[in-house]
Amino acid sequence: MTQVATQPTASHFVNGRYVEDTAGAPIDVIYPATGQVIARVHEATAAIIEEAIASADAAQKAWAALPGVQRGRILRRAADMIRARNRDLSILETHDTGKPLSETLYVDATSGADALEYFGGLAASLTGEHIPLGENWAYTVREPLGVCVGIGAWNYPTQIACWKGAPALACGNAMIFKPSETTPLCALKIAEILHEAGLPAGLYNVIQGRGAVGAALVGDARVDKVSLTGSVPTGKKVYAAAAAGMKHVTMELGGKSPLIIFDDADLEDAVGGAILGNFYSSGQVCSNGTRVFVQKGIREAFLARLSERLADAVIGDPLDEATNFGPMVSEGQLGIVQRYIAKGVEEGARLVCGGKRLDKDGFWITPAVFADVTDDMTIAREEIFGPVMCVLDFEDEDDVIARANDTEFGLSAGVFTRDLTRAHRVVARMEAGTCYINTYNDAPVEVPFGGVKMSGVGRENAKAAIAHYSQVKSVFVRMGRVEAPF
Ligand code: NDP
Repeated sequence: MTQVATQPTASHFVNGRYVEDTAGAPIDVIYPATGQVIARVHEATAAIIEEAIASADAAQKAWAALPGVQRGRILRRAADMIRARNRDLSILETHDTGKPLSETLYVDATSGADALEYFGGLAASLTGEHIPLGENWAYTVREPLGVCVGIGAWNYPTQIACWKGAPALACGNAMIFKPSETTPLCALKIAEILHEAGLPAGLYNVIQGRGAVGAALVGDARVDKVSLTGSVPTGKKVYAAAAAGMKHVTMELGGKSPLIIFDDADLEDAVGGAILGNFYSSGQVCSNGTRVFVQKGIREAFLARLSERLADAVIGDPLDEATNFGPMVSEGQLGIVQRYIAKGVEEGARLVCGGKRLDKDGFWITPAVFADVTDDMTIAREEIFGPVMCVLDFEDEDDVIARANDTEFGLSAGVFTRDLTRAHRVVARMEAGTCYINTYNDAPVEVPFGGVKMSGVGRENAKAAIAHYSQVKSVFVRMGRVEAPF
């Protein structure tokens, strides 16, 4: 087994320390670039799950009672430590996910640090309201929810661990995080750093496992909130299980987002946006604009320039910083993508370029572009979660808006045009949680992120996330006598 230098020292991080329980089923961690096993973790046993929940439950009230400025200081210290260790953490993220270092150095640990810094800064100002009622008055108090469970997908393991952990902890909650079994390593380092920064034991636990471990956490009566990043089918199950216990939820689920390019758009920018919105992280991004609607007047120019720029993609060793396109996360995900590509060809779409498995170890496929895609094709309707762009033609603004919205998903939407009024008119009618004008896939912590329709409920990031990790208590105060009818 090839070891990574920065690797965590055990499967779980519970109650302030690394713990191992080899009685849990083994999960091999595979480096997607080579297919080699680089680590082995064990699924959480019932004893580990119990220790995680009990320690979180025991630690939460004292944490919530601390002044916000003290909680925030610990989070901001952790943010600084993450930045100082960015290269090591990025190398680990690259091994966990296969994403090239040219990405992980800039958007994974750093984005996690941004979340810890942002919510650390907010922790001291989570105040309520004063509400005058004539001579009487009321006030509100923003209280934590209690024990929160975070369940992550495999595409951004460090970022997801922080995007859920930072607001939860800032509000005075405890968090138990279960990473995807495919990428179990990175969240452990976040737990380690948070505790090194001064977080008391029990407040940020990471335990490994497949869906059953997530389900055990969601079903426990001591858990007050569940935040899932995953697919729509998993979201439905987890939402239903949480509803049985009337728990709060945040659901960050899948998408099949539209990217609309009008013929007055800056062609180079539009092609750049389409590349960012389809091929970053080998296409394994929930908000990707995978249905690229291109107005007929520029379709051929768009496809020609896109093919030229894709030919420049550097596909290869993810640890070489010159590489800008890595492998798929797993053999299983690669198989899913290959089946969709075959389906696209079978249903009559034109494969303009890419979509070929590379003849080497690991899970490599070249970025694929389909043209002549129609709305009813499987590749235009279902989330593929891989490097497959579908280009669809359109002529009329009203028509393209209706087609863009004709999907069960509603995560993101983008428009490229030089016409300012048209840009705002179009995004106003988009059924999506996050819209982009002349850009695509920006996700800074200052801006709320989340979906509508089947893409989810709740919002991550920004002040909006505070509402999803806290609840409001109203307190009535009477200044005069109490008048009762008898
Ligand atoms: P999955 O839905 O397969 O899994 C998500 C997580 O849920 C995993 O940790 C999984 O565990 C766990 N899980 C599975 N079943 C249950 C259950 N019954 N109870 C509790 N937990 C369970 O998603 P993927 O990991 O395959 O990620 C890809 C999906 O995530 C895509 O649809 C993508 O769009 C979405 N996504 C959404 C984002 C957003 O912010 N909106 C961002 C990133 C991805 P295990 O994997 O160990 O089985």
